[in-house]
Amino acid sequence: MTTLSIVVPMYNEEAALDGFFGRLQRVLQTVTPSYEIVCVNDGSQDFTLARLRTAASADPRIKIVNLSRNFGKEIALSAGLDHASGDAIIPIDADLQDPPEVIPMMIAKWRAGAKVVLAKRKDRSSDGWLKRVTANGAYWLFSKLTDPKIPQNVGDFRLMDRVVVDAIKQLPERSRFMKGLFAWIGYEPEYVEYDREARSAGETKWNYWKLWNFALDGITSFSSLPLRIWSYLGFGVSLFAMAYLVWTVAKTMIFGLDVPGYASLMSVILFFNGISLIGIGVIGEYLGRIFTEVKARPLYIVAETVGFEAEAQEYPSSDAQRA
Ligand code: UDP
Ligand code: MG
Repeated sequence: MTTLSIVVPMYNEEAALDGFFGRLQRVLQTVTPSYEIVCVNDGSQDFTLARLRTAASADPRIKIVNLSRNFGKEIALSAGLDHASGDAIIPIDADLQDPPEVIPMMIAKWRAGAKVVLAKRKDRSSDGWLKRVTANGAYWLFSKLTDPKIPQNVGDFRLMDRVVVDAIKQLPERSRFMKGLFAWIGYEPEYVEYDREARSAGETKWNYWKLWNFALDGITSFSSLPLRIWSYLGFGVSLFAMAYLVWTVAKTMIFGLDVPGYASLMSVILFFNGISLIGIGVIGEYLGRIFTEVKARPLYIVAETVGFEAEAQEYPSSDAQRA
């Protein structure tokens, strides 16, 4: 049994890999001899898998979960959590944006009893201004809409105790908004602070369209307010229409008919058609997600795993590292 599992989703990270393993393992060696690095190859189209195989054959602590295609970071991370066997589990990005040097601090807090240790960014200075503004906007919206509060400036880089990961594995949903799922599980977190570095090599897999859809996933998975808001809006509009009707009838009865009204009619029709379409669109967002949930397909398909069988002989019975 391993005591510490590092889980790394990887998509086209061939350029970052060598530097990553070097720096990560230098840190891990100072923490515990019994650790595993669960690398999830999320359908990379470059030589990530080949590099991983080389690394894994040289070091049995490096393990590979090879997914059958690209499933996206959130699902790759779930696959990694499912395969990790440690008593403490730390997801980390392969691009060294989450500095491994923070890990000993997390472990210290975990050994002192914390079930969840979050790595909190000191600031967002390594992001561009647009990313910063949109990220702040998204966090603000989440804090208004969703019930389990998602801590600000905290990514997936965190330490979780085995009990927490087992809890996460019980959440069956197919929209894996991990930040939200982590928050939903609860457990009072402890924090360590760190500076997020620039990407070590390769390029980011995110663009604004993906981030927008990611935010939609987050909101629809954790709030039904966008659905319910329409009844209130409809109610308000009906009240207003009622008053307007009374006023128009009264006006016509007192002052007689005056014909003009094309422009106002037109704008009212267009405006409320727009509103109705938005309402239908919102329902569609939820319906689409219900559809995916109802199909209940497996979250991911594993094409192959490397290194997991060897584990039992490699590290017989946990050496109770935690003590
Ligand atoms: N990643 C993944 N599948 C994807 C996209 C990204 O496994 O479809 C991994 C990627 O290899 C990296 C981590 O998720 O280890 C974070 O991705 P990235 O650095 O591109 O995101 P950013 O740090 O820019 O938010
Ligand atoms: Mg990154």
